[in-house]
Amino acid sequence: MKKEERKKELEKIKEEVINCKKCPLYRDRIYPVIGEGSHTAKIIFVGEAPGLQESKTGRPFCGAAGKILDELLKSVGIERKDVYITNILKDRPPNNRDPREEEIKACAPYLERQLEIISPEVICPLGRYSMKFLMEKFGLKERIEPISKIHGKIFEVKNLFQNIKIIPLYHPAVATYNPNMKKILESDFSVLKKFK
Ligand code: URA
Repeated sequence: MKKEERKKELEKIKEEVINCKKCPLYRDRIYPVIGEGSHTAKIIFVGEAPGLQESKTGRPFCGAAGKILDELLKSVGIERKDVYITNILKDRPPNNRDPREEEIKACAPYLERQLEIISPEVICPLGRYSMKFLMEKFGLKERIEPISKIHGKIFEVKNLFQNIKIIPLYHPAVATYNPNMKKILESDFSVLKKFK
């Protein structure tokens, strides 16, 4: 898909999300958080759901977890503008509670379209919800294990049109309350150097 077409398709998703009432999360919406970054990104990061800061600004990962994500990207020489960052849920669950199954079901088609349009080489789920959803989607259900076991591992998926690598990563928020996790995240992020 050409760059202009990608832009148009992603704009369409934005309009739909702005008007979306498929789950009750829209009721407390300040801004939905759709995603940002390069429309031709090789790497896409998929978090769980916006937090308060994100829903106030409409930008993914712009609060405390975002600061860690920015540092991790910097540590491997990747610029934020060159990747795409989004979430499974586009609206914030109240008090940042975990996403619910029915919310994921309602919202995931937007993410699926974003993935099709951007068509990245590497998909990095951030955290277990995103890992579970994406591994199931790409036929890796049998290989799902706790994120503590498979973080930083590369799972190759081949389909008719392209080869995709799924690399599950810990959610950057874990490093906000456990600084030792930052080292683990840094080491996992280093596998991304070869895809930038
Ligand atoms: N946590 C997420 O999963 N996504 C964000 O955008 C921010 C925090």
